[in-house]
Amino acid sequence: MILILKPGMLSESPEYKQLLAYLTNLAGITVRAHTEVGIEQTLTEVYLIGNTKALLLEDMQSLPCVERVVRISEEYRVLGRHENDVRPAYFDYNGVRFGQDTLNVFAGLCAVDTLEHVELMMKALRDHGQVCTRMGAYKPRTSPYSFQGHGKACLPYVFDLAGKYEIKVIAMEVTHESHVEEIREALYQTGNSTGVILQIGTRNTQNFELLKIVGRQQDFPVLIKRGFGITLDESLNAAEYLASEGNRKVVFGLRGMKTNMGDPHRNFVDFAHVPVVKRLTRMPVCIDPSHSVGIRTGSPDGILDVMHATAQGVIAGANMILVDFHPVPSKALVDGPQALLLKELPLFLEDVRIAREAYEKRVELVKRYQKAG
Ligand code: PEP
Ligand code: MN
Repeated sequence: MILILKPGMLSESPEYKQLLAYLTNLAGITVRAHTEVGIEQTLTEVYLIGNTKALLLEDMQSLPCVERVVRISEEYRVLGRHENDVRPAYFDYNGVRFGQDTLNVFAGLCAVDTLEHVELMMKALRDHGQVCTRMGAYKPRTSPYSFQGHGKACLPYVFDLAGKYEIKVIAMEVTHESHVEEIREALYQTGNSTGVILQIGTRNTQNFELLKIVGRQQDFPVLIKRGFGITLDESLNAAEYLASEGNRKVVFGLRGMKTNMGDPHRNFVDFAHVPVVKRLTRMPVCIDPSHSVGIRTGSPDGILDVMHATAQGVIAGANMILVDFHPVPSKALVDGPQALLLKELPLFLEDVRIAREAYEKRVELVKRYQKAG
């Protein structure tokens, strides 16, 4: 059960203390409070864990400072969408809103290779009005002999250039807890001129110790990718690990499933699950058409498969797009064959705009029909 307290309730206030004293005395119940400091207001939620069936909704509702009570199901306690649950389905980070009704494009390099390529990429993004990007410094690779990413060595110039080109958020995968500290330190050294959303890759979706560590910090939001060989439920529980440790700024990423049924694409595109994740949880949903499709093939209509897959996710309500671009794909050290070209960026963005507009029109259409009964 969650007690959502009246906005702005301070933990030092006598009513709050009185409430907590009462709750901690309830038999068989563990109490856990979580405070979220937002731009507009501070919200506190109190989680009651244990034998909550015995508690009456009305009794809880009448306690001091309580605004509303939500009875939660066992699943996805923090991130889930429960009955009568009006908790917000968004968060703000470094001036960018991530929500179930926003859309942010994170076009960029799969892996940072040279300073020149990073600069060309960021300049193109700035020139096309973009404020987010993807840049991999730590790359989990199938072969131990493949390029593993430049690691912390590239962070200073990546962050400096992001500041120069007014990039506000970089999606960057971490594969070890030490990477979080390296990113924090490099951001500090470069004057915090940009922000980072930590990416948990599909190979680490169930690396529970990494999830707990990333979940315990709240400086950086997290993009967790769906595990490519596990069920959706298992992946959503992985996201819940982050939230149960305290970090609710979580975006859930679909990136295709590993099965030969998806051939000739690299993975089986699973963007039909965008609305499913939005129904089951309050997380914004990201799609990664590059790692799903994995190749630059196109169809007879002239549209690349990566762009078709992107449009499919966006028209289904996706909230974030993670997509590989590269100034010279033949020179990319990772995933060149799936990268879009810089000259394709305006085309890609316009295509996304069309798909998003279609999605918004579909939502309006349904609302009109519902109103008409
Ligand atoms: C990536 O986004 O660079 C990546 C490796 O993705 P995934 O974890 O989905 O394979
Ligand atoms: Mn890649």
